[in-house]
Amino acid sequence: MDRIYLDHNATTPLDPRVLEAMLPVLRDGFGNPSSLHWFGQRARALVDDAREQVAALVAAGPAEVVFTSSGTEADNTALRGWAGSAGGARRKVVVSAVEHHAVLRTARALAEDGLPVEVVRVTADGLVDLEDLRAKVDDRTALVAVMLANNETGLIQPLPEVVRIARERGALVHCDAVQAAGKVPVDLKSLDVDLLALSAHKLYGPKGVGALCVRRGTRLTALLRGGAQERNRRAGTENVAGIVGLGRAADLAREALAEEAPRLAELRDRLESKLLALAGARRNGEGPRVPNTTNVSFDGVDAEGLLAALDLRGVAVSTGAACAAGAVEPSHVLRAMGLSMERVQASLRFSLGRWTTPEEVDRAAETVEACLAQQRARTRGKAVAHTQAR
Ligand code: PLP
Repeated sequence: MDRIYLDHNATTPLDPRVLEAMLPVLRDGFGNPSSLHWFGQRARALVDDAREQVAALVAAGPAEVVFTSSGTEADNTALRGWAGSAGGARRKVVVSAVEHHAVLRTARALAEDGLPVEVVRVTADGLVDLEDLRAKVDDRTALVAVMLANNETGLIQPLPEVVRIARERGALVHCDAVQAAGKVPVDLKSLDVDLLALSAHKLYGPKGVGALCVRRGTRLTALLRGGAQERNRRAGTENVAGIVGLGRAADLAREALAEEAPRLAELRDRLESKLLALAGARRNGEGPRVPNTTNVSFDGVDAEGLLAALDLRGVAVSTGAACAAGAVEPSHVLRAMGLSMERVQASLRFSLGRWTTPEEVDRAAETVEACLAQQRARTRGKAVAHTQAR
């Protein structure tokens, strides 16, 4: 079966050019970048090159890039690392309700540790409610965390306004750009944020490597303590092959952006218009979006069942629900937008990628139509059986 992968926001396949860059490092570039001999210095040079490549993707300086084990670690470090930068009375952390769990659950842990934490509402469209943000950011606020692009809806948050509000009160800003990098231009300077998180595996790079960009002058307390790697900002021997992969992926993303973004937008719009033409289909989220994502609800349908039916026919999508302790937790993003539980549980995310073709998009839309008809017939059948049983 020719499978169609429309779940690029969960993870992307490794670009073969990234693999090519990583293979020699895995094969014989084993040196420890902290070693003073030839082997070590060769590895150090590879890490330094990758640092420049990542910096170039987000218009940062190479010294501003701290490599981490993931986007999650970058977010955790940002939320816990501001202590050195904020003044004594500043302890409050303000996050948006639609942040990734890497931010939200870290904020919750900070609250459990006794720090004041506030969660900012989003509008029904899915964008941060700026009035609520203004009300919650005050002179005691150390950090405001708002993502650039949402992983479920693809919506691009109003960062310039968020930054303005935070700056008026003297707070630092962390921006999770994991889903934005490579899909829209990301520029640390013009965004004017202090901290910015990236992850390689959303960019056709390998899993288990990310970066936190830390604006010059921002003091950061390391999350992991040990060696002096990453200028004392992240201890632990560097994942050299992974970092080389992230660097190459960043280079490719930067080169491809101008061509890839409009191509994906056209394909996404083509898919979306076919999906929205189906009975009971509605788009979740309104506003500027990254070009590869659409989130659609299908009235009266159980999205998990629909996802399974699509998977059986070779189409991979996502519900946005998270598996927590064996139970499925419905999307906190769609819930935060005020969507009914019924609608949340009838929603699917489609996220396209570098190798998605128009044929795949058309076949995916046809498969959704067929599966919807099947699901609805089954639901009707159950309802009839239920009535007859009564
Ligand atoms: N932030 C966002 C917006 C994400 O979508 C993800 C991954 O889904 C992460 C952070 C976490 O990144 P990683 O998988 O590298 O830990």
